[in-house]
Amino acid sequence: MKLQGRTAVVTGSTSGIGLGIAKALAGAGANVVLNGLASDGEIAAAVQEVSDHGTRVAFDPANMLKPAEITAMVSKAEKDFGSVDILVNNAGIQHVSPIEEFPPEKWDQIIAINLSSSFHTIRTAVPGMKTRKFGRIINICSAHSLVASPFKVAYVAAKHGLAGMTKVVALELAESGVTVNAISPGFVWTPLVAKQIPDLARSKGVSEEDAKKFVLSAQPTKQFVTVEQVGELALFLASPSSGSITGANYSIDGGWTAQ
Ligand code: NAD
Repeated sequence: MKLQGRTAVVTGSTSGIGLGIAKALAGAGANVVLNGLASDGEIAAAVQEVSDHGTRVAFDPANMLKPAEITAMVSKAEKDFGSVDILVNNAGIQHVSPIEEFPPEKWDQIIAINLSSSFHTIRTAVPGMKTRKFGRIINICSAHSLVASPFKVAYVAAKHGLAGMTKVVALELAESGVTVNAISPGFVWTPLVAKQIPDLARSKGVSEEDAKKFVLSAQPTKQFVTVEQVGELALFLASPSSGSITGANYSIDGGWTAQ
């Protein structure tokens, strides 16, 4: 199997895209450290699903708002598993509001979780990756790392920032065997998107079904991207054969950013 003997840390992997990526990596033979803020039941279910592939699976409760917990998570994974070969920066939250009403504390949280947490995971994982001359860093950005939408000021700023961080670190590590790439999904049907539908339906005075259609109007395929599709793309970028791809930002958005 492609990733046998490798260890992956996937932030925010108790649900949605992170869980889909964790399953894809474990399916290819990688040990996986899961992470996220979730109930005991959700954590147990995620660990069970990823363990089905027979590789070693652990859970770390590090809060992506707390730099000390983030660096401790990466260091512990290295100590317990012997290496962190694949780092997937996926944890993220959203808040939708006009800028003049945007709560400053939501701005701070989104910048911390969606942007700064990746700085902390990467700076902690890079020394070991450089020593071993192998690493795969995958930053889960968004179509909103390339284009903007109104009312998502913190999210769009954080994702543009993460796309920039991807390029900088890719250049710094270009000769070290460590690649750094971004994946930019369009709308993927996950709890993060599902949570936005009732608010959108209310604000537009339409049914939730029509609100979903409104969301998909940005996406030419008129289909949600699936977590499995994002998982397969991450698996490709984590594989040994992707060694010449670095500093790239892969769109998986049903044509959204082609418009
Ligand atoms: P999700 O809500 O299903 O999952 C988010 C994960 O992040 C969960 O595991 C949650 O526990 C974790 N998390 C949140 N706050 C955390 C914190 N403080 N510390 C640790 N973990 C925390 O959402 P998703 O849709 O799967 O989103 C995953 C990533 O994909 C995010 O970065 C998001 O911006 C990005 N993304 C999602 C979509 C989409 O349409 N769903 C599109 C583009 C990009």
